[in-house]
Amino acid sequence: MSVNEFFARDYMGAREKFLAAGRAHADRFRTFQNPLRGPRGEQLYCDALWYGPADAERVLVTISATHGIEGFCGSGCQTGWFASGAYRELPPGIAQLHLHAVNPHGFAWLRRVNEDNVDLNRNFVTHIGPYPENPGYEKLAASIAPAEWTATSQAASKAVFADYAKRFGPAALQAAISGGQYSHPDGVFFGGHAPTWSHRIIAEVFREWLSRAKHVAIVDFHTGLGPRGYGELIFALPEPHPSFARALDWYGSDLTSVELGTSTSAQLFGTNGEGFVRFLPNAQLTAIALEYGTLPLDDVLDAVRADNWLHLHADLAGEDSRRIKTQMRDAFAPNDASWRQSVWTRAEEILRKTAFGLARS
Ligand SMILES: [Zn+2]
Repeated sequence: MSVNEFFARDYMGAREKFLAAGRAHADRFRTFQNPLRGPRGEQLYCDALWYGPADAERVLVTISATHGIEGFCGSGCQTGWFASGAYRELPPGIAQLHLHAVNPHGFAWLRRVNEDNVDLNRNFVTHIGPYPENPGYEKLAASIAPAEWTATSQAASKAVFADYAKRFGPAALQAAISGGQYSHPDGVFFGGHAPTWSHRIIAEVFREWLSRAKHVAIVDFHTGLGPRGYGELIFALPEPHPSFARALDWYGSDLTSVELGTSTSAQLFGTNGEGFVRFLPNAQLTAIALEYGTLPLDDVLDAVRADNWLHLHADLAGEDSRRIKTQMRDAFAPNDASWRQSVWTRAEEILRKTAFGLARS
């Protein structure tokens, strides 16, 4: 199986490849069926695959499709991990948990969000008490998610964004749009008002399968930020966190931090990492987002905004849909063999590094 073949063309193909490569090696396996269906009426699943001793003290965890369409990348790496045999070459005593397609609905529909228009990586606030506020989003909401998606409306939004960036800086603009918001359920980067289906699956699998582990290291696959083909290692626990020093020891200066301002990501609310800490209070945790660059940030945000408009206001069977879904694929899952090769090479390197770090922690 060539590296290019690790990566699928659609959600169903990705699941087939992952199961074909990994299922036979599973010591534990569980499937969760999403209540909704894909665009061709297909059933949607998140699959949890465990390899290694059930009572392992050290567990390596991978997660794909936190952001639906980004699952093409994460799934390809999970498939490659088994298909290449790399899964067998770890230090003894380490178990592995691979969560495949944790947001299968977004994956199948080529969206970042899930079936509730929720950004899973903003959904792990406690949902008790007031939600975080994002005044920048409030100010820009009408331009971020306009009701019309024409050349004129897009140019008008761009002018508003340029003005905002001029006044407050490009980082503030990025944070306003993508940091997360809890006030516009129809908008982008919406964190939700309750734990979503995917959130509940992560909580359940983590609590049931990882509660005995002493050391857990998590690699959550993402795409859409940073230089094309480069896999940035973003520290993914709420900062400041005591395990940052350990992560730095494992990954060296490649590790970036939103708190320290060294990451391409904005400050986010309600990330998966907030959930990891809550679900595994007794484990020593280390977690990174492995974030691969695709297109320039403006193009990526445009794709997300266009897709939001498409699902709210347009015909999913029409010409707009074909155009915008191509935009989404280009922004989050490029059909590009050299990009995939870089993605896989980096993933293999980082998963190994993570396992060896775990072994000596
Ligand atoms: Zn992502």
